[in-house]
Amino acid sequence: MNVHNAEIIISAVSPKQYPETELPEIALAGRSNVGKSSFINTLINRKNLARTSGKPGKTQTLNFYLIEDALHFVDVPGYGYAKVSKTERAKWGEMIETYMTTREQLKAVVSLVDLRHAPTQEDIQMYEFLKYYEIPVIVVATKKDKIPRGKWNKHESIIKKALNFDKSDDFILFSSQTKEGKEEAWLAIEKYL
Ligand code: GDP
Repeated sequence: MNVHNAEIIISAVSPKQYPETELPEIALAGRSNVGKSSFINTLINRKNLARTSGKPGKTQTLNFYLIEDALHFVDVPGYGYAKVSKTERAKWGEMIETYMTTREQLKAVVSLVDLRHAPTQEDIQMYEFLKYYEIPVIVVATKKDKIPRGKWNKHESIIKKALNFDKSDDFILFSSQTKEGKEEAWLAIEKYL
């Protein structure tokens, strides 16, 4: 998809704030700093529509972006900040769980992991959660440009093994610096629209 129009529709915390449309939704999840905002901005050809979210103290919301009047991207706040209190973490978990398990428009989740590192416990939990609820997953391994070409396969294998990766899901190596993986990511997303 070649995107010309993208805008934020609403930052929601509860279901009554979700937009009332039938448009398909693709949610994007990953730990803070994984490169989620950069991924979104690359896919929609914008410099900074999606801003780095999930910094401690910031409101944790589901951000709905309307793309080409054809779909919504739903930016899920980043997980993995140790500083966040237990109460905040529980609220975060409940918000995500409610959205992902009840929203009929949700077609697939882009789960972002860092190609440089083995998945964190939270990355693994997120993947297991999505598999349990039979939500299709597109795993995007970010920051590909930071790993030499000869090591891509090895890193991909480590991530897949740790996730117990299901071959029916997509796995894409991505770099927001070089834009590698952009077309592949759109093709994977378009399968679910
Ligand atoms: P978010 O917190 O997941 O939304 O992460 P951001 O998109 O804000 O990225 C976090 C940091 O990683 C920023 O400094 C980005 O410039 C950097 N970053 C994101 N994607 C890439 C990438 O593909 N390659 C490189 N080299 N850096 C990246």
